[in-house]
This record gives sequence, C-alpha cells and structure tokens, in this order.
Amino acid sequence: MIRTAGIPVSKGLVIGRVYLLEQDRSLRVGRQTIAPEDAPAQLERFELARRAAIADLDALHEESTGEMGEEAAKIFLFHIGALNDPTILNPIRTLIETEHVTPEFATSSTLKKLADRFAKHPDSTFQSKVDDLRDLASRLLSKLSGKSAATLAKVAENTVIVARDLTPTQTAGFNREHVTGFVTDLGGRTSHTAIVAGALSLPAVVGAKNITARARDGQTIIVDGSKGTIILDPDADTIQEYKERIKAAEQTRISLHELADLPAITTDGVEIELLGNIEFAEEIDTLLNEGGLGVGLYRTEFLYLTGQNAPTEEDHFNEYAQCIRMLEGKPLTIRTVDLGADKYTQHQEETPERNPFLGLRSIRYSLSNQRMFRTQLRAILRASAFGPVKIMFPLITNIAEFRSAKYFLHEEMEELAEEGIKYNPNIEVGMMVEVPAAALMASAFAREVDFFSVGTNDLVQYTLAVDRTNERVASLYTPIHPAVLRLVRDVARAGRKRDIPVSCCGQSAADPAFAALLIGLGVRTLSVTASSLPLVKRTIRALDTSRCERIVKRAIGFDSEAEASSYVLNRLKKIVPEVFDGRPVA
Ligand code: PEP
Ligand code: MG
Repeated sequence: MIRTAGIPVSKGLVIGRVYLLEQDRSLRVGRQTIAPEDAPAQLERFELARRAAIADLDALHEESTGEMGEEAAKIFLFHIGALNDPTILNPIRTLIETEHVTPEFATSSTLKKLADRFAKHPDSTFQSKVDDLRDLASRLLSKLSGKSAATLAKVAENTVIVARDLTPTQTAGFNREHVTGFVTDLGGRTSHTAIVAGALSLPAVVGAKNITARARDGQTIIVDGSKGTIILDPDADTIQEYKERIKAAEQTRISLHELADLPAITTDGVEIELLGNIEFAEEIDTLLNEGGLGVGLYRTEFLYLTGQNAPTEEDHFNEYAQCIRMLEGKPLTIRTVDLGADKYTQHQEETPERNPFLGLRSIRYSLSNQRMFRTQLRAILRASAFGPVKIMFPLITNIAEFRSAKYFLHEEMEELAEEGIKYNPNIEVGMMVEVPAAALMASAFAREVDFFSVGTNDLVQYTLAVDRTNERVASLYTPIHPAVLRLVRDVARAGRKRDIPVSCCGQSAADPAFAALLIGLGVRTLSVTASSLPLVKRTIRALDTSRCERIVKRAIGFDSEAEASSYVLNRLKKIVPEVFDGRPVA
C-alpha cells in the first residue's frame, strides 16, 4: 500500500482501478523521405488526416457541449483553430513539398519544435499550451497511420486515469460512465484540465509528482479529490474505511442539500447572504440548486481564456444576458476582466513580465487596453437594462484607478444614451479589495464606491508575499494570519461607517473557520464556489455572531499565524464540534 498526496482540484472520493496512460511525450518520428513526385499525394494524405481530425473534434465539441457546458467545451474549438492555423500548417506543408519528408515526420517535427519553444517560454500560458500541441500531434499522427485516435472512451468500468499530464481535450473525451477520476504527476489548480474536471464533477488530484512511476495498470487506487490523498494498492481495511467514507460523504451531501431552501441564518438570527462565484454561465444551474441567492463574482476573463478570438461586445452581452435569464431576478455581480499574471489571452502581448503578479494585471491591464475595456463596459451596461447587474473592478490599488474606470463607464453610458440604447444609469459600482494598500485606504475608497468585495486569494498573497500558485511556499499561504485579519477588519469598519456593503469572494470564505471570522468582523455576504455553498450554510447556521466577534478579536491580537489559527480552531471545535471536528474541507 502506498499513500501519497497531490493538489486537490476537484472534490469527491473514488475507489477504482488504475488505467496508466502511457503517453509518447517525445513525439519522435524517424525522418523518412518520399520521392519528390510523390509530394502532391503526400500533401493530400496530410490534408485528409487534418480534415478527419477536425471532424472528430467537431463531433467531440458537439457531444460535450450539453454535458460540460458551452464554455468548457470551447476548448475543442481551440484545437480546431490550431488545425486551421497557417503558422502551424505552412511549415508542415513546406517540409513535405520542399524537403520531401513524410507527413508523419513533418507533423511531429514541426509540432515538437513549437512545443519545445512553448515549454521554455517563461510565460505559464505558453507552457500550458504544450500539451495541447502534443495532443494535436498525436491526433494527426493517428489519423495519418489510419488508426482511429487513441481514445479513452473504451476503458473498463470504474477507471481512474493515471497520467503524467492530461490535456483538456483528453479529459473532456473520457467515457463518463467508466472514468471516475484522475491523477496526474503535473498540473496546477488553475489549469484548463482542472477547470474541465470541476465542470464534469470528476474527483481529481494533480501535481502528484511521480505517481505514474509508482502506479501499475489494473491496481486498486483511492483518490480523495477534496484532500489530495492518493492510495495505491490499499489493504482490505483501508478499502473498507474508504467505502464507509464514501457512504458518509453521500449522506452528508444529501443532508447538506436539504438545507438548500433554508436561509443562511446564525443561531442569534443574523442572516448572511450566500452567493456563488462563477466562471461560466452554465454554473448558475448548480448554484441555484444549492440555494445560492445570486452571483457575487463572475470571473469574466474566462470568456477570453477559452475562446480562440477576443470576445466581441455581442459575445459579452449574450453571456451576461444568459446569466440574467438563468438567475431569474437574482443579482449578478460582473467583475471586469482580471487578465495578466497567470491568466493570459492568446492575443495578449508575448513579452513576458518579470513579476507578472506585480505587473500589468487586472484593472491595470484594462485601463491600458481601453478599447477592450470599453467593449466590456458597454456590454455590461446594456445587460444592466435586463436584470439586477452590478459591476466590480478588480485589483484596485489606488483611487485614481477606480476613478478612471468609472470615468470610462460614464463615457460609455453617455454613448449609449446618445444611441438610445437602454441601460441602468444607477448601476452599482464596486471594487475588489485584494491589495493591502486598498484595504488600508478603505475609508477613502468608501466615499466613492457602492460596495466592497474582499478577495482573499490575492489579499493573502500580497500581504504575506507568498505566490498563490507556487507549491514550494504553499505552507506560508495562511489566511488566518493576524495581518490579513487586520486588513479585513479595516475594510469591514470602513464599510460600516458609510453603510457600504462588504462581502468576501475569496476561496477562504468557503473555509468554515475563516467564514466564522468574517462573520465576527461584520461581513454579511459571502460568495463561494457553488459546490461549497451547502457546507458554508451549515457552518453559518451553527454559529453565533457575538461568539464569532470575540474569537476574531482575540485572533487579531496574536503575534503569529500559528497562535491565531490554533486558537481559532480550538475554540470553534469546542463551540460547534459538529462542524469543526475533523475540519471538513470546503
Ligand atoms: C481573489 O483574489 O480572492 C479573487 C476572488 O479573485 P481571483 O481568485 O479571481 O484572483
Ligand atoms: Mg483576485
């Protein structure tokens, strides 16, 4: 029995059989030449393979749209785009025509060169495309060899895929009846593969280092997608233990779901507004099903990340209109794009930044790409005529940024008014507080904003100087740090003073202990991933605000994170053991 761990990216527990995905990562095909007069026929063979690959991808896209949602399925469109991209196709055709090599060699050497270049690129967006290129190469090669594309559609029941890495296309192409989870050596929380896993509700652990070297085909495997635990070849007792855990988890899920229609109200009668964070409109179904009262954070940059081309005003508007329709009168907080740092568009400048998290990111990027920004603002304003839409600017650090963003918004309002197009002139305009400077200056911002939303994901990384994407410093990423709590307290106070609503939409809001501290600080709106809503609601319904106030007051007074978090957890365990014993993962 081997017990190991990785980064949990998609919740759930599964006991299955390993399917070790052997991948030819080298893409090496021997150089073989053809007779010069054979070149036209070989070009034709390449063309047929390319068209067949596109046809497969078209079918996959169509099949997956219903299951995964339009946005996630758009990943296939990226692959189709690449198969029509002259910068990829021309070198392959030239090699066949002028160097008289086989289409197999031309394909593998061209895509390998490109993949190697991307792998060495300092920008992680390029690195993340390496697997897409390899995926494309193997698809084309299998078409050229006449075999059908290597598919995971035929695996046996209850299969857990173990792979060095998985492309989003592979993940989305799994036979959903038979594949029950996956584990990879590589990968990070924010990869497209992780997004697809979440969209498919497939338990998944990535970054499990050398899991492919340790696992054997057909071996029994346990994957805990909530905790990141992986157990290979578990003994009978462990299997029994996990079977019971799976049963218990299902019971918990059912009993938590029963809370969906109940209010998130504390034992002393304070109602907390529970909203959901979304990346794609399709997530609204789950959010409503879990009792969410609206969307507190719509990460609109995913519109740019999943498509081939930058979205047009109509693309933006249609997405927002779909959200509004699905929400049936519930609020929709649209955050303008948070591009840059670890989220680059395909059209974004290729010049890498030395410190991208401190670089031209988020509102800074929008303010320096005015056309793009104004396009989005116009679409949001148009959508505001159809439902309760709020607008939120990310990563605001100084007041000038907020004023500039609002200035552009007002200019777009004037334009729309001149064109006779409807919008809500009183649309609420808020900002995320995710930089220490903004938290420290919250009272100044409070004079100009309609609401604050604390983004702890970034606030923690910027306060503690810990890269949120770097597993090597993950142990230093500690939200229950007195420094972080003091900043949130300042924001909550500034909001209270001016009657400005303060919410929290960072991942920490879904952690029961942190949620208790937020309530103690006076935060009355929490926005979390849809699947975390039931657990957060159960936590809230077991808490008492005055106790939370006392706990957070004490926690803020400690000198270190270690003292603060051990105090908080011990207190909460005593007060509400049913929630905090065993500390469920949000
Ligand atoms: C945050 O930083 O807490 C946040 C919600 O924004 P994102 O995770 O998209 O950076
Ligand atoms: Mg953020």
